[in-house]
Amino acid sequence: MKILLLGKNGQVGWELQRSLAPLGELIALDRLGQVDLSGDLSDLQALRAMIRQVAPDVVVNAAAYTSVDKAESDTEMADRINARASQVIAEEVESLGAWLVLYSTDYVFNGQGDAPWRETDQAAPLNYYGLSKLNGENAIIASGCRYLIFRTSWVYAARGNNFAKTMLRLAAERETLNVVADQVGAPTGADLIADVTALALQKALRQPELAGVYHLVAAGQASWYQYASYVIDFARAHGEGVLVKSVVPVPSTSFPTPARRPLNSRLDTRKIRESFSLSLPEWEVGVTRMLMEVLNK
Ligand code: NDP
Repeated sequence: MKILLLGKNGQVGWELQRSLAPLGELIALDRLGQVDLSGDLSDLQALRAMIRQVAPDVVVNAAAYTSVDKAESDTEMADRINARASQVIAEEVESLGAWLVLYSTDYVFNGQGDAPWRETDQAAPLNYYGLSKLNGENAIIASGCRYLIFRTSWVYAARGNNFAKTMLRLAAERETLNVVADQVGAPTGADLIADVTALALQKALRQPELAGVYHLVAAGQASWYQYASYVIDFARAHGEGVLVKSVVPVPSTSFPTPARRPLNSRLDTRKIRESFSLSLPEWEVGVTRMLMEVLNK
């Protein structure tokens, strides 16, 4: 089996390089691609030609325009990478009779209420990033190709920058830290997403009726304030330099941003757990592992 992985150096892409490797021949590209293979999703013609040349059995697209605030003004590029590139990939995957895996986001929802969102709930994005990701989902669904779309949230990885690392840095510099407490979701490790992708893909290849949209996040829930508090308590308990004396819960309105964020980012994961016989660990399990790795404990 030939698997084409796009966005190999992002948080999720990096972990997919590991989890997909045992499934078959893996051709992994970043934006720069390889000598004769374009990896740039913004060049739609080159993208189409590259997929035709590789002729994979599965395309896993972990590349995306992920700068949520920048997307509000850079709409053309966000749309091209998150929506139109998805359409091109889906068209080519459909004509190859292959499978397509795409990652999408809790930001397709408007964040009202406090019930976890189900896959069947109405999407209504509050920001352009969410809209461009939803347009990408819809293009894939409309193409008639076989697909797995995993909507996830609050992704972190030991590699690269993330919210937890920012909190560790600020906690070492400041006595008081204000953190948003009215947005609730589930911090989800890129490693978990990559492992579930490999497991789900293996099963879907044998049972094509499993194609569909799935919510994929760690179990439990937290606000950014609770997440930050957990990270700082861990650092303090493990002898890290923590100056901060008070972590203060504040509303989202204290941090105005170009893009509005949903308050309720809870995702219901029953469908993925039942369809693929999976268990999803509590968010603290993965965050603890990441902190131990980052802090070398
Ligand atoms: P990252 O931002 O870590 O990685 C995105 C990757 O896409 C980067 O490697 C980036 O490359 C690449 N990329 C951007 N533009 C292009 C382009 N024009 N051509 C080729 N590659 C490009 O994202 P994550 O790993 O966190 O996200 C993976 C998926 O999960 C995405 O679909 C995202 O929308 C989704 N998601 C992420 C969430 C999060 O909290 N991060 C939450 C919910 C969903 P480069 O480094 O060169 O820019």
